[in-house]
Amino acid sequence: MLQPIVLYSSNHNILRTETKQSDIKNDKENLQKLIGDMKDTLESVGGLGLAANQIGRNESVCLVQLGDKLITMVNPFITDSGGEKKISIEGCLSIPDVTAKVERDEIVSVKFVNPDNDWQEEEMRVEFPYSVIVQHEVDHLNGILMIDYLSPMQKQLIQTKLKKVARGNADINYVGMVWRDSVRSWSLVGPFHKLMEFYNYHSTDNSFSSNGEVDVISNESEVIGEQEEGTQAEENTPREITEHEIGQDPKKQGKEKV
Ligand SMILES: [Zn+2]
Repeated sequence: MLQPIVLYSSNHNILRTETKQSDIKNDKENLQKLIGDMKDTLESVGGLGLAANQIGRNESVCLVQLGDKLITMVNPFITDSGGEKKISIEGCLSIPDVTAKVERDEIVSVKFVNPDNDWQEEEMRVEFPYSVIVQHEVDHLNGILMIDYLSPMQKQLIQTKLKKVARGNADINYVGMVWRDSVRSWSLVGPFHKLMEFYNYHSTDNSFSSNGEVDVISNESEVIGEQEEGTQAEENTPREITEHEIGQDPKKQGKEKV
């Protein structure tokens, strides 16, 4: 089932919380459902990887697109790393509009439980550039974000963009959710047509797997155009994004993000 992507906010710590190892024997049913949700969501947004906390969950589960193979990793951890240090430019579905030059290990070995192989534990050696995706996703599960690798000056330079994302004003072509501290609840944000799709999709169940905290924005007055950039109202009120804000080629957005 399609879920909204948790967007970066300094007010809510779900992306900053280390996920919990799953008890495979007793949790298969829950994990299967979660993995299904994650696959549906990743397919819909078109990214290269997804961690469970990016849809508001705290299980240690991630998806990584390694070439033409989508691998599901439960309880993954990196057992070894080597090769050269490689610098690449990363994007993140939870931090739209921001890229980060990150130095990572060229080769990693990752141990994980593979639900697509009868829940067996496996160890996989992954090389660049796919090793970047694995490291990015395992970082997510440990509460670490790509922006943590930036220098203090680089961090300073992206503050405006981060604030924009946190107040629901991100240029995304998928449905995200932001934490509204003022009302202590989540709100969905995204292009109008994507929000409509999302509402229709969930019209029969009216629920999300994100622990029941989601408050769906349905107030038409929050559509762009009602508020001026930089006003106090906008600071506190996430609003929906219209298509003209997304950019020239919305279909391309999110493709490189993980
Ligand atoms: Zn990410």
